[in-house]
Amino acid sequence: MSHQICPRCGGTGVTEKIRHTVETAPDGTRQPKQENYLSPCAHCGGKGHVN
Ligand SMILES: [Zn+2]
Repeated sequence: MSHQICPRCGGTGVTEKIRHTVETAPDGTRQPKQENYLSPCAHCGGKGHVN
């Protein structure tokens, strides 16, 4: 049996995702923010390889 590097995450086991939020500043203006975060790769289950 052989394992292949997961094509989705490139073997890292995590994928970078972007979350969009809006923050309200003290003066009442709204500032769109985007936040990058890592989450376990759904394709390989975070292992980094697929069977
Ligand atoms: Zn993966």
